[in-house]
Amino acid sequence: MKHLHEFDPDIYNAIQQEAFNESNRLVMIASENHVSRAVLEAQGCVLTNKYAEGYPHKRYYGGCEMADVVEDLAIMRAKELFGCEHVNVQSHSGSQANMAVYMAMLKPGDTIMGLDLSCGGHLTHGSRVSFSGSVYNAVGYGVNKSTHVFDYDELLSLAKTHKPKMIVCGASAYPRTIDFKMFRDIADEVGAYLLADIAHIAGMVAAKLHPSPVDICDFATTTTHKTLRGPRGGMIMCKEKYAAAIDKMIFPGIQGGPLMHVIAAKAVCFKEALSPEFVQYQQQVVKNAMVLADEFMHYGLNLVSGGTDTHLLLINLTSQGITGKTIEDSLSKANIIVNKNTIPYDTNGPVLTSGIRIGTPSLTTRGMKGEEMIMIGHWIEQVIAEPTNEEVFMDIKHQVLTLTERFPIYEWMWR
Ligand SMILES: *Cc1c(COP(=O)(O)O)cnc(C)c1O
Repeated sequence: MKHLHEFDPDIYNAIQQEAFNESNRLVMIASENHVSRAVLEAQGCVLTNKYAEGYPHKRYYGGCEMADVVEDLAIMRAKELFGCEHVNVQSHSGSQANMAVYMAMLKPGDTIMGLDLSCGGHLTHGSRVSFSGSVYNAVGYGVNKSTHVFDYDELLSLAKTHKPKMIVCGASAYPRTIDFKMFRDIADEVGAYLLADIAHIAGMVAAKLHPSPVDICDFATTTTHKTLRGPRGGMIMCKEKYAAAIDKMIFPGIQGGPLMHVIAAKAVCFKEALSPEFVQYQQQVVKNAMVLADEFMHYGLNLVSGGTDTHLLLINLTSQGITGKTIEDSLSKANIIVNKNTIPYDTNGPVLTSGIRIGTPSLTTRGMKGEEMIMIGHWIEQVIAEPTNEEVFMDIKHQVLTLTERFPIYEWMWR
């Protein structure tokens, strides 16, 4: 058998270049991270060959001994990490985890209530361009127009008006702590199921730095590749009484064979997340985000909700009169990677946007701390001050390269 670099140099080189890019850039996309070598090894392994439809010790294929070992370990570790009664680790993605919960508990046309995309919600929380908004009758809620945080009274009255069968809490771009108990009260008041989607904050929940929804909500879904720093994938936690319905909906309801190599990598990720180092890592993630937030606010930038409690922050560029798209493009020329993002009640729309979303999980994985955050904060401020000055971008890019060299990542890939 040939090595990849011999058989397919085009793909091999693209992979090597990606590793090189990640190492030479400041990755500040809030939903991304740099996984460990152990996670990478597990994800790129022969378990990709195995068909293991069904669940451990109840498979539809022979030869599943090792698939059972791997999935049992993943389940055991996930339960220990999150303290959940039941977990399904087979979901291929966060979106499919949400789909499985909806399809297990709802009928087409039922009402769901989730955070609007433009206020930080996810596509699968009821956006019209997603199945969640076309199959179900989706009612969106927003954030308070002036504070940009949840207004639980408004939420309650909206729920009373629309009587949703499922309320979804959780977000892709909400910098503040989510009060799951408040959502529980609202759900109880109208007799709705409560789903917490912790795709973004799972790492902080695992480290007990953000309240856990597990005992409060009926269902909690997550991705494993964001702050949790595992392989690309999803997972569903629920009360025991919903276990059978959820498992049947993942398989055979909406998926076929589980990605056993990914489940192996999820198990590795959970083992890492159970270590004291992971808790320290998550503490530093939040600290770094707060340092950046303070830096930006001192400089005079507007932050959505006035700061952060988590791994991410949103800069509102309205008073600078520049779009998120412009700053995303300009920063990327300086090797600083962020994404444009709508701010609540954005008038610029999702293509241009009035904001950028910034996260600290990847930089913190490399070992960067407050001192580096201040440096990076200054660079971002310079680009916002002079968003078309190519010389500024080039100057910052050189400084970025000096910094990234001091915090190597994946260097073993080209040694
Ligand atoms: C990222 C995200 C998802 C979806 O994850 P995919 O794996 O990309 O499908 C779902 N919900 C929230 C809140 C997210 O941020």
